[in-house]
Amino acid sequence: MDHDDSHLSPQQRKVLRDKATETPGSGALLDNKQDGSYHCAACDAALFTSDTKFDSGSGWPSFDRAVEGAVELKPDNSMFMKRTEAVCTNCGGHLGHVFEDGPRDTTGQRFCINSCSLDFEDNAGNRTSGDTSQ
Ligand SMILES: [Zn+2]
Repeated sequence: MDHDDSHLSPQQRKVLRDKATETPGSGALLDNKQDGSYHCAACDAALFTSDTKFDSGSGWPSFDRAVEGAVELKPDNSMFMKRTEAVCTNCGGHLGHVFEDGPRDTTGQRFCINSCSLDFEDNAGNRTSGDTSQ
């Protein structure tokens, strides 16, 4: 697939295209509690909604589910670990990983997502980039 990544910072490209992981606790959207939606920083697809975000204490924005069909899950056996990779269905961008230690009262899943791979849009249409390197 060919995507225009020219609007992305080097940090965002490293995460979204080279599957890097941002430093925990560094993301601009980590503690964001506003109502709105989270979009792929590369292609702008809507990936998560604010009502599924929770504070996991991990240092990365965490969600207990994704917008239906927006996030693809792939087995990831890199780094000598068995993990599940979360990928933007639309552009294939790497978002983070999914773990089975999420809130038990909802899905039990934790989508552990790099802040810099997200753009937040509040209900008034204001945008906040999750990337702090810009
Ligand atoms: Zn995308």
